[in-house]
Amino acid sequence: MAGRTGPDDDGAGALTMSSCLPSILTVPEAELQAFFRDNGEKSFRRKQLQEWLYRRHTLQFAAMTDLPGALRLALTERFADCSSTLAATLPAPDGTEKLLLHLADGEAIEMVLIPSPGRMTFCLSTQVGCPVGCRFCASGRDGLIRNLHTHEILEQLYHGSARIGRLPDNIVFMGIGEGLLNLKQLLPAITMLIAPERFGMAPRRLTVSTSGYVPGIYELAAFGRELNLAVSLHAVDDATRAVLIPDTLRYPLAEILAAVDDYQQKIGRMATFEYTLIEAVNDQDSAARALARLARRHHAKINLIPYNATTELFRRPSNAVIRRFAELLEAEGAKMTLRLEKGAKVAAACGQLRATHRRTPAATE
Ligand code: SAH
Ligand code: SF4
Repeated sequence: MAGRTGPDDDGAGALTMSSCLPSILTVPEAELQAFFRDNGEKSFRRKQLQEWLYRRHTLQFAAMTDLPGALRLALTERFADCSSTLAATLPAPDGTEKLLLHLADGEAIEMVLIPSPGRMTFCLSTQVGCPVGCRFCASGRDGLIRNLHTHEILEQLYHGSARIGRLPDNIVFMGIGEGLLNLKQLLPAITMLIAPERFGMAPRRLTVSTSGYVPGIYELAAFGRELNLAVSLHAVDDATRAVLIPDTLRYPLAEILAAVDDYQQKIGRMATFEYTLIEAVNDQDSAARALARLARRHHAKINLIPYNATTELFRRPSNAVIRRFAELLEAEGAKMTLRLEKGAKVAAACGQLRATHRRTPAATE
């Protein structure tokens, strides 16, 4: 393994790039209070603003119709509301919908709305591109462009809520990027999502997915909230993982599993092993049996994801092989869900829509 630390770019700061004003979502509480005081506003105006932001899922000051015009103007002059714009929507017959969002600097990210009976899940991005560069994944093809800011992570929620008229039931950070390499921006976003006075979501409704970035798993455990952890294993041995994940940010399986054990012990939530099933790479009967054993030993459930073709390098196994693999897991006593890649029909897996909609050449911050 060539290197073990994440990129230095922490995407710090909450300035939206177009206006250079701080985002209303991440402005420190004391500063907001001072703003209302300086503008001679009563404290109930602040509550009204928070009601719009966190209960009515509205970011645009112009839409906050019960605030006086002068206050809305003052807010506009001092803070930025929504820095990203909805650039395209791609609905699929299975009910999922992918949203392409343009960021203030011309970059683009994706999110997916995934309905299932009785609930709605939003799949959100954490970075523009991804430094891990898994060979089967469109998101990592050009490496990391930049980290998302906290407000950009949260704005996805507003774009999604605008489509469905409410907050989602669940959020999975499984869109573009390796969230554990952007914890500086992701943890404040999660803190706001679970704060009762903000979005008020239960931590167990949030899932962070990682390719196995070990220091990040320990950091998430230290964060100490009951978040779900999903780890993209894809293989039961290091040699096979090396075929799929480049050396730079890949950790040995043993270290990943030790970190997962530590997480479960501290947080008390069952982990999930994600397993992208790829023909002749990791779809053998022996792999299924070993995966089931691993999952049982580490008290994890398995999320089986049939590969959705993004490159000529790999192929999706036939449905018969996928079914057999799933049946073997169950026969071996593993807890398993077969994700039928709902996103696959909407311009395919994560990162592909963005890849076709880039507006500007890659720019680093
Ligand atoms: N970086 C994190 C989260 C984003 S990727 C991680 O790797 O876990 C979320 C999931 O999508 C991962 O399990 C990944 O393996 C899967 N994925 C990415 N591209 C895919 C593809 N083309 N087909 C199937 N699954 C894919
Ligand atoms: Fe990054 Fe996850 Fe894609 Fe790998 S699968 S390149 S870690 S987004």
